[in-house]
Amino acid sequence: MGHTEAILNTRCEALNKRGIPCAFRVAIRATPDGPRCRSHDPARRAELVAAAQAGARKAQVARGDAERVALAAAGWPLAHGGAPANPDEAAAVATWAMRAVAAGLLPPKIARELAVLATAALRSWGAGKIAARMAELEGIIAGIQANERRRK
Ligand SMILES: [Zn+2]
Repeated sequence: MGHTEAILNTRCEALNKRGIPCAFRVAIRATPDGPRCRSHDPARRAELVAAAQAGARKAQVARGDAERVALAAAGWPLAHGGAPANPDEAAAVATWAMRAVAAGLLPPKIARELAVLATAALRSWGAGKIAARMAELEGIIAGIQANERRRK
């Protein structure tokens, strides 16, 4: 843990990603690698990595929340609120997802996931014809998604 060395009146000698010296001058401490700023202090590296990972997890949770909000706002098509229980309900969800994407109410990424799950469910129910149609819809949604990515 913590260095007890005094703060040095020098520059950080660590090299950044482009191989250029960091040269940061604030709170420089002597480390086994030489004078280092807080970002380049090897003793703090694990701490910084942990903080970055925690930040990434938090962002992931926030994204998940946004997706649930989008899904709720678009209005789930099944009255029972659950997953499709038969081929007709799966088809209803697929149709709804396409309309919701077209209306900008549902991110294409979620619609695509729904189509993939519906296809898997239909395969397990042995509804071959509808499964093939659903695979087509997956392709269409993937196309919409690719278009949207290109526009960004
Ligand atoms: Zn530095």
